[in-house]
Amino acid sequence: MEIRVLRGADVHDLLPMAECVDLMHRTMSAVSEGRVVLPLRSILVMPGDQGMMGNMPGYLGEPECFGIKLVSLMPRNKPPQYSSHLGLVLLFEIEHGQPVAIVDAAAITAIRTAAASGLATRLLAKPDASDLALLGAGEQASSHLDAMLSVRKLRRIRVWARDSSKAAAFAQTEGARHGVTIEVAQTPREAVLRADIICTVTKAREPILLGEWLEPGVHLNVVGSSIASAAEIDTPAVVKSRFFVDYRGSTINEGGEYLTALRAGAITSDHILAEIGEVANGSKVGRESPRDVTLYKSLGIAPQDLASAHYVLQKARAAGVGQIIDL
Ligand code: NDP
Repeated sequence: MEIRVLRGADVHDLLPMAECVDLMHRTMSAVSEGRVVLPLRSILVMPGDQGMMGNMPGYLGEPECFGIKLVSLMPRNKPPQYSSHLGLVLLFEIEHGQPVAIVDAAAITAIRTAAASGLATRLLAKPDASDLALLGAGEQASSHLDAMLSVRKLRRIRVWARDSSKAAAFAQTEGARHGVTIEVAQTPREAVLRADIICTVTKAREPILLGEWLEPGVHLNVVGSSIASAAEIDTPAVVKSRFFVDYRGSTINEGGEYLTALRAGAITSDHILAEIGEVANGSKVGRESPRDVTLYKSLGIAPQDLASAHYVLQKARAAGVGQIIDL
């Protein structure tokens, strides 16, 4: 039994952002059309706040395969030496159920998460959206910058981080990488002033973004808070948004901002207008007016990982990339 092992660098080479955004279009449509099997992920919480392990299994109908992403989230790890999500995507073929690939999960997670936000932005942001605010300056901020640049022509970019020296380092490194100027904002409020697109990509557990700051027409990708007890944006921000999600089942189970607003009686379950796959396949309407505030709540789902791993595996086989192990 031959298994191909693909490192993070292989994933970055073989999964360009623009291709992954298109892949997420197909994948999220398949999710919303029920062409996947997607159990809710389970989280193992280790004692003493040491960390967590996420177990994310799934089956894809097209390309047909199944597998699991196993990731650790260790709060004491310091980026950039350690990614926020460390682990493996294990991919199996469907005919005999043999494992065919072991893929670095950190790279897959970094790219597919931002690509899904890229899809949401392509579908929901104003066509002429050109002013981006990034809240957070870590790995997801970097991959979200790639994704936003791949779906909109950006004329102005600002980054805010709680440590402004990290925001400045991000602005310098990422600005040079993309050949763009990135301004450093001193506060989240300053960052989002006049923004057309806002990405929240922090580990904040309490809101860093308030609804009263949101201007008509803005699109938000709310990504960092991916457990039920965390909320990067406040309830007024949820209330004033046309609210779209990656997967309803995840949102009602672990969407921190949604659950907080629901418990407060500020919204009902009807507040979730659609999954992004329903907007992608044209069965639900996204933005209705240039003044709408649109919001994509990202929690991350296994089909995104499996589709990405499968895509990378096909390209790796064709290019002879990766290490083969024989079990
Ligand atoms: P990084 O560790 O690379 O970056 C985290 C960023 O959040 C840093 O800028 C950090 O600042 C900042 N931050 C940490 N705590 C706070 C706080 N209390 N208030 C404000 N800013 C804070 O992580 P990633 O970029 O990889 O991930 C960012 C978030 O996205 C994580 O919460 C992660 O779990 C989530 N995520 C969500 C996914 C999804 O599918 N929705 C997938 C992958 C990640 P500093 O450097 O000062 O600590």
